[in-house]
Amino acid sequence: MPADLVPAQRALLAANGLSRRDFARVAAFVAGGTWLSLGSEPALAQLSQIKAIPPNAVRINANENPLGPCSQALDAVQRALVNAGRYQFDLIEAFKETLAAQSGLAVEQVTAYAGSSAPLHQAVLGFCSPSRPFVTADPGYEAGEVAAKAVNAKVIRVPLTAGYAHDVRAMAAAAPDAGLIYLCNPNNPTGTLTPHADILWLADNLPKGCVLLLDEAYIHVSGAPMATELVKAGKDVVILRTFSKIYGMAGLRAGAALGRPDLLAKIAMWSGGPLPSLGMAAATASLQVADLVPTRRKIISDLRDETCQFLQAHGIAFVPSVSNCFMVKTARPGTELVAALRTHNVYIGRVWPSWPNHVRVSVGTAADMAQFRTALLKVLAA
Ligand code: PLP
Repeated sequence: MPADLVPAQRALLAANGLSRRDFARVAAFVAGGTWLSLGSEPALAQLSQIKAIPPNAVRINANENPLGPCSQALDAVQRALVNAGRYQFDLIEAFKETLAAQSGLAVEQVTAYAGSSAPLHQAVLGFCSPSRPFVTADPGYEAGEVAAKAVNAKVIRVPLTAGYAHDVRAMAAAAPDAGLIYLCNPNNPTGTLTPHADILWLADNLPKGCVLLLDEAYIHVSGAPMATELVKAGKDVVILRTFSKIYGMAGLRAGAALGRPDLLAKIAMWSGGPLPSLGMAAATASLQVADLVPTRRKIISDLRDETCQFLQAHGIAFVPSVSNCFMVKTARPGTELVAALRTHNVYIGRVWPSWPNHVRVSVGTAADMAQFRTALLKVLAA
């Protein structure tokens, strides 16, 4: 039983109908590290994979970016490393200030995190409870569901539309008492967009007291408009950004939540402590490289499109994507294809229960994608 709840935590537990026992369970998850390991892309990827992937394997299973951090980020890491004996809070501030300035936001509207998994989980803790459900898309990124289950919040999955967008009207209507509606744009795993106008509509038509959590982890890859204007307008919206995708910093760790300060406070109270200074330094340096995003967008898109054209030429169905992953339709259970490709040393992503005949494939290097294409044809012919 936690003996040292701060007043704000007590108030939140009361407001969300959570008991001290619920809090103790969540606190134990967080303290034990189980929390982050269960609900993150590597963990979710690993759940559908074997424990150890051979070092020479083609790893296109976790939506990582093989380009890694840009050279300017690596230089910044070197500089920060020399001072790594210190907390280097100034690097956290510099990161927030840079992101805020580039986004046209006040620095109070930005909270820095070590990636976006933490604020995703904590937003669920902050806004969902046994009486405030979590609404998400199906198929969608599952990490929020893990958090919702930990606090006994009901999970409501709303199928994507026939055009693979979030069905914003159905999501808004799914639960009048919803605590959080989670919308990932572009969506993981489908790599498909929800129209900007639909996102604006949803922000204006949320159930009373509900917050829209807009996950823009892959927005840079797509080139679609970001929804920062909703934060500027003071809506009940929190946007998540990560440096794990286009910036290639999944192992370095940097991310941010953008929102109204009162909303950010409800998320931030579930974690504490300084952030990794190397990740902060690398993120700031990456933001200052003007052509990084468009250059990498083109590299990733070209590789994705090349493989999708190959699939089309061979009559293999897939979902057209604007992200760094895409879904391939399989004639047999997707899990069988995943296993068969593994025998060719190619590790692709997982299968979503609602789409048992689809597998997710991440965009790797040109060599990775070539090996995937060769292995796929062999497996399909077998
Ligand atoms: N959101 C989405 C949609 C993701 O796919 C991921 C990881 O793959 C994350 C958030 C969290 O990533 P990270 O914690 O590395 O920022």
